[in-house]
Formats: sequence, C-alpha cells, structure tokens
Amino acid sequence: MIDLHTHSTASDGTLSPEALIDLAADKGLAAIALTDHDTVDGIPSALARGEARGIHVVPGVELGVRWNGGGQMHILGYYLRHEDSTLRERLSWLRARRRERAQRIVDKLKVVGVEISYERVKEIAGGQSIGRPHVAQALIEAGAVHSVGEAFGRYLSPGRPGYEDKEELSVEEAIRLLKSSGGKAVLAHPATLKLNPDGLARCVEELKGHGLDGLEAIWSGHSAQQVDAYKSLARRMNLLTTGGSDFHGENKPDIQLGTGRKNNVQVPDSVLEALRRRQGEHGLRGNR
Ligand code: AMP
Ligand code: ZN
Ligand code: FE
Ligand code: FE
Repeated sequence: MIDLHTHSTASDGTLSPEALIDLAADKGLAAIALTDHDTVDGIPSALARGEARGIHVVPGVELGVRWNGGGQMHILGYYLRHEDSTLRERLSWLRARRRERAQRIVDKLKVVGVEISYERVKEIAGGQSIGRPHVAQALIEAGAVHSVGEAFGRYLSPGRPGYEDKEELSVEEAIRLLKSSGGKAVLAHPATLKLNPDGLARCVEELKGHGLDGLEAIWSGHSAQQVDAYKSLARRMNLLTTGGSDFHGENKPDIQLGTGRKNNVQVPDSVLEALRRRQGEHGLRGNR
C-alpha cells in the first residue's frame, strides 16, 4: 500500500518530514508522496529519510487554485524537480502572501475581541508555510477554543469573523508551473469542487486541456460511491487515478496515514506504477 497525499510541519501537518517517513515505514507502506501546501521545503529531508528507511518518496506539493465555483479546487504535483528555481520562486511568493493573510486574520480576530499575536502564529508555523491550522493552534493556546475543529467552526471558516481569502494561482498557471518543473498534475479530492457529475466531467475536460494528468479518486473525505464515480470518470477521460489520506497528524486527528478515516483509504502499489509509467513517457524519471 502507498499514500500519495500527506502534510508535514513544512506546512500544516504536525509531524516533521522525517517522522512522517518513519511512521510510513513502520506502517509498512511501500511509498509516500509529501504534498505540503505551497512548499517543497520538506522534500530533501523526506527523500533522505526515505533512502535510509527503504521507502520510496515522491516529491510533491499541493496548490490551491482560484476557481469561481462554490467549492475548493486543489491541484497536486508529483515527481517535481523540487530544486527548480521557477517553482521555488513562485511557491515562495505564495508563502509571502500567506504571511500577510495570517496577519490580516490576527487583526480581524482582534476586532471581535480575540487576542492572539502574529509573532506566536509565525512561531507555531516554524517560519514555514503558514495556514489557518497554525492560527487554530494559537487560538487553543490563548484559551479561546478547545480544538482545531472548534477554531475553524467559530472563527476560521468562510463566513466566520476570522476568515480571509488566500491568494491563489489560476488553474492554468498552477498546472503549467507543476509541469514545467517536470511534474505530473492531479486534481485533488474532486468532491470539494461540489459539482454534479455533468459539471465535474466538463470541468475535468477543461483541466485536461491545460495538461491535467489524473484524478485523486481515493481520499479520506470521499464516500465509496464517490471513489467509484471518480475512478470511472478518470478511465473515460484517459487520466490516471491516484489516492491518498491527506494526513495532517494531530491537526486532523481522525485521519490516519495510509488508511484515512476508518480505513476508507487503501491505495494499491499499482497506482504508483501507473504514475511512474506516465512519468517515464512524458517527463523526467523520478528518484530511484
Ligand atoms: P489554509 O491553507 O490556510 O486555507 O488552510 C487550509 C487547511 O486547513 C486545510 O488543508 C486543512 O488542513 C485545514 N482545515 C480546513 N477546514 C478545516 C476544518 N473545518 N477543521 C480542521 N481543519 C480544517
Ligand atoms: Zn492542510
Ligand atoms: Fe487539499
Ligand atoms: Fe492536503
């Protein structure tokens, strides 16, 4: 089994890249992709630990993209040349926008009488890709809420007093960026687009026109019916099917590495083989 969607402390997960790889190895996973939000800073240590523990590590990233629908669109990149300077510069730009946004969130919370400091949020994020889960931790520390879930429910979700939009790339640019650094582009968790089957098929067709390689059919938040529907959509459109848990450690305590929520994620090794075949045909070879 493998897991192609995970977050470390380089973004908003709670395990370091090394600890994440150790956990994956201890669980007997054959491969893992590190897909932190807007950063590849965890990749070198993950690759090194993967070598040491004999587990294949796919260098990845997850990008939020601008989209006019009601839901959220995220794109995963796999087998990136993580040292590519264009990629690194664009990701670093996105992280700078995240810092400004975190500052605005802190200011907004102050208006409703909730005092946390931006400095503390930055410290919790460890100077890396700052996200709302780090603000949530600061809110817990300040005694304003008891859990990450409560922090989102009361303050950080859309429509709540501490919500701020995030700067995102257009979908064309996101896919182009991933592909120009040798990667494959996959639509993450299609359910979060909140489209009906026809709408999703049209949307995926358009993304395919921009160079999309696959759909993340298997994901912790998908029902068995959704997994089947996304697999068959991928097959019809000649796209890869991928899958992963979206593990975030303690920031999403109900999601387990490799197995998702109540064992609803089981990603066979054949998914990776297909991804690597496509990589061999169209791009640079991955590590090992
Ligand atoms: P951001 O990148 O700052 O917009 O934060 C997005 C991250 O927040 C997601 O990847 C999740 O890790 C987390 N998240 C979003 N909604 C919730 C929620 N309701 N409860 C817990 N975590 C959430
Ligand atoms: Zn996250
Ligand atoms: Fe996502
Ligand atoms: Fe994710």
